[in-house]
Amino acid sequence: MEQNDKIELTGGGLKCDTPGCGWTDPSIKMEDYYKHVNDVCPKCGANVLTQEDFHNFLTLLSIVAKVNSMSDEEIGKLTEGKVKDPNQRVIATIETHKQLRITDIRKADE
Ligand SMILES: [Zn+2]
Repeated sequence: MEQNDKIELTGGGLKCDTPGCGWTDPSIKMEDYYKHVNDVCPKCGANVLTQEDFHNFLTLLSIVAKVNSMSDEEIGKLTEGKVKDPNQRVIATIETHKQLRITDIRKADE
C-alpha cells in the first residue's frame, strides 16, 4: 500500500451471480479481469464478467485514482468538517455486477 493512498483497492476473484450457483474462483487477480470478460460459469453457464461489469470495475478504478490524487485539503472541503474522525479507516465491500454498489462497510479495526 502506498503510504498516502486514501483508498487501497484489495480483493479480486470472480464469482457467479446466478442465485444458488455459488461458483467462485478467488485465485483470479484484479489485474487479470480483462482476460476474463465474457467468461462462462463452469457450473451453470452464466456470464461471470460481462462487458458492463468490467466497465463498472474500470469506473471504480478511476474513482480510486481520483480520490487518491486529491489532497487532504480538497477532501476536507468536500466533507466540510462533517466527518467525525477523518483518520478512521473503513473497509468497504463493493460489488461491480450490474452496478457499482457498496454492500458492506465497517471500521478497519473492528
Ligand atoms: Zn454459475
